Amino acid sequence: MESTQIVLGDITVEVVRKRVKNINLTVQPPLGRVRISAPKRASLKTIRAFAISKLDWIRKQQAWMREQARQAPPAGPRVELKYIDGESHEVWGKPCLLAVSERVGPPSVELNHDRLLLQVRPRTPREGRRALVETWYREQVRTAVPPLLERWEPRLGVKVERFQVRRMKTRWGSCTPAKRTIRLNTELATRSPELLEYIVVHELVHLLEANHNARFYELMDLHMPGWQAHRKELSREPVRAEVRRVEQGELGL
Ligand SMILES: [Zn+2]
Repeated sequence: MESTQIVLGDITVEVVRKRVKNINLTVQPPLGRVRISAPKRASLKTIRAFAISKLDWIRKQQAWMREQARQAPPAGPRVELKYIDGESHEVWGKPCLLAVSERVGPPSVELNHDRLLLQVRPRTPREGRRALVETWYREQVRTAVPPLLERWEPRLGVKVERFQVRRMKTRWGSCTPAKRTIRLNTELATRSPELLEYIVVHELVHLLEANHNARFYELMDLHMPGWQAHRKELSREPVRAEVRRVEQGELGL
């Protein structure tokens, strides 16, 4: 089995010669790798022409896979956290030890180096503790976002009317271009600050282009080269999409 590559702008196609009758083109999740299997006698020129005729389709599949990867359910494990002394909790991508103390008086959450200090009233149940930590995470994101908007709004030439931070089950962020509002997932405070920045930029780019089309990704490439690494990092939790998209061609060989 011999393998060659065809480069079409930003898309690299791996070509494998096999004992097959037709040219088969597949886009593979999660990253949208493009592969063609072709009959041994098919010329590279023919294969190239076939790949070019499928460019739009390839881009559509890749955009779809990116979106699936991006929408992978964020950080499920936190659901199982007990919020007890000595438990590890991620803060801005770093593990911190939860130190719980009980006292009469207003509860509080405070970060002290790698220790997350949770002070609660005696007999506060898990749900109450969880809510306190959750509120603290939301505050972290709320505080981190304005400087990012200050940096990125002028770069992109956009202006956000309002941003919200809330817990979302399936998305890291969302944008309503008509209202110029963006929403960010509270859970982003558990991941590294670069990932929050990436999601903020992604949502701001939606103010320029509402859809995940070629133009959208061109804008991402232009303003945040290498953003794919952030996307990959964010989707290191289970990715839902395991659908393999296949397109078949029957060219006169
Ligand atoms: Zn989007």
